[in-house]
Formats: sequence, C-alpha cells, structure tokens
Amino acid sequence: MSETTHLAALLHGAKDVRLEQVPTAAPLPHQVQIRPRATGICGTDMHYYSAGKNGMFVVKNPLVLGHEAAGEVVAVGSDVKALKVGDRVAIEPQRPCSECKQCTTGLYNLCSNMKFSGSASADPPVQGSLQELYCHAAEYAHPLPDSVSWTEGAIVEPLAVAVHAVKRSGLQADNSVLVLGAGAIGLLCAAVARSKGVKNIEMVDVDPARLEFAKAQGLADTIFNIPLRPNEGEEKVDFCMRMAKDIISQNKERLFETIIECTGVETCVNIGIHAAAPRGRVVLVGMGSPMQSIRVGSAAVREVDLISVWRYASTFGTAIDLIASGKVAVKPLVTHVFQLKQAAEALDVVVAKPADLIKCVIVS
Ligand SMILES: [Zn+2]
Ligand SMILES: [Zn+2]
Repeated sequence: MSETTHLAALLHGAKDVRLEQVPTAAPLPHQVQIRPRATGICGTDMHYYSAGKNGMFVVKNPLVLGHEAAGEVVAVGSDVKALKVGDRVAIEPQRPCSECKQCTTGLYNLCSNMKFSGSASADPPVQGSLQELYCHAAEYAHPLPDSVSWTEGAIVEPLAVAVHAVKRSGLQADNSVLVLGAGAIGLLCAAVARSKGVKNIEMVDVDPARLEFAKAQGLADTIFNIPLRPNEGEEKVDFCMRMAKDIISQNKERLFETIIECTGVETCVNIGIHAAAPRGRVVLVGMGSPMQSIRVGSAAVREVDLISVWRYASTFGTAIDLIASGKVAVKPLVTHVFQLKQAAEALDVVVAKPADLIKCVIVS
C-alpha cells in the first residue's frame, strides 16, 4: 500500500524553504485533522526564516512554520466529541501537558512541558500549519463562526495575545492608555482597549506610516513619531525622559494609567515607565533583548508596576467573539496575501518589511 502524502513548506535552514511532499499522519484519538486555510506570519516566523533560528531554538530538522492559523476539520480522532468534519476552527498553537501544576490551575500558558506548533523548541520540532494537512488537539481547535473569514481567522492568535495582555494590564475604561509600537500586536492591543471603552489612546512608533494607519483605523487619538536615536551627544537616560515628556504633552499633559509596551526595545520600556501615572502599570508584551537596563528607581518612587505577559491562556474564545461581533476589525490589518506555494516569497516580503506591511497571511 502506498503511503499518503501531502504538500508542506519545509524550512531547512536560513532562507531555505522548500515545497515537499511529507507523510500524512492520521489524527490521534484526542486530535482533529485540519486543512489549514489561512496562516498569519509574524516576527517569530521571520526570525526562523531569516536566521534559521529563533533565539536559542535552532532549526536542526526541517521545520514547518505557521502558528497563527484557521482551517477546516477534515477528520476527527476516536475520542473527539466536540468537533466534526466540516467545522471551521481557529487553531491555538499551544500544546500544554495538561498535568503540571500550572496546567491544572488554569495557567497552562506557563506549562513546564509546553510544546508549540511551528517551533524548533522541541526536538524533533512540532510542525506548524504551512502544509495541506495538520493534526492538532481538538481541545485547542476553537470553533469559528461562518461570519468570520479564513484570513480573519488567522488573526485570532495575535488577537488572543492582545486580549491576554490587556487582561493582565488591569485596564479600566477611564484610563489614559499609551501603546508603544504600532505593529500588528500594538494595533490589536489598542483595538482591545477600545472594545473595553477606552477613549484616550496614544500610540508611539518610529514609523509615521504605521501611526497614520492607527489613527485612520480609529485606534489612536493621538500619535507620536519617535526618532530612531537620541540627538548627538544626548545620554540615553535624557533621551528617554525627553521623549516621555513630549509624549505626555501630546496627551494634554495627562500621564498614562496603562502602558502597553509592544516593541521590546529598552528605550521604549524606559519611556513607558517615565510616562506612567503614579500606580500606573507597564505591560511588557514585546520580546526584545533578554538583558535590559531599566529605570527601576523611577518606577519604585511612583509604585509603577511592571507586568510580564507570556502568550495567552483561555483567550481564544474572547478573541473570536471580538471579531465576530465586529468590536475589533481585523480585516484592514491583512495587507499581504500569498498562496501556500508562494511561502518563500511571502517570508521574503516579511523580512523585507515594505512600508505598507502590517500582516502577511498565507492562504490555501
Ligand atoms: Zn506569531
Ligand atoms: Zn503543563
């Protein structure tokens, strides 16, 4: 009997994506087999593609990227009751162990034995969705209403990040909110804040086009274009203080109760601390250099909280509802669409970062 195969985009190393036939696995009892219809590409995929690694995770065996996906259920494992063939789902790419202390107390994003789709963190890697067929635990395949398109479905995962970040921030509707970084995650965080009734959002970025986009989408009331580097001879510390002052003056001198930092850049983290109101909260969403110089003194004297976030737990349902109800419009964020066969081309575009790129999605 000949083995069944399907097409996959395999990353063999830096800038080396090949379309190949791979063996098709049948779903395990707790899994569903999914035909991915749309996969969003983000910074993580970009790192794997451009360098053949993401931080300390190196591509040793061919890796199928893709962890922001929506697709159609084409087969179900013997134990699966909640899903059936033909169902449309958004895929939550986390594969927690479901047995450790975090998993049994609802903090499964912090699972000690976490595996993640489209990541080389495990060896052999856990393959992602840039392929024609893909098996995933039914528990982490969330039903998608017919009113949500496939490409919108691919934005559920990054929106789940934003929902978790805003939840951790303790944001209130009357807060003044500062979002540092107007990329996809920053825009989605602003959108979630808006859905909570926030009327005062300032967004900051180095790219004026992104800021204009945020404003045009109604996600920012005020914007501030931050220069890439300090003035000549200006100390970093002074630069951060000066930027914070300018950002606050843009907001009619009002300090920010909630700061959502989506760049991971040390300067921006410090600007966030300086711009925070007493008892304000700085949420660290962006993943930057693991070692940074942070003005803890400035935070301490005003009881500013630094809050970390790691992916999400139990936020996919909320993210899907936000899209389905129209409270968060994700369609305008999808600026580039490619077919699975153009996976390498799509990844090249994400690496090249054209000015109009917000989110690139691969459909099949
Ligand atoms: Zn991602
Ligand atoms: Zn666990």
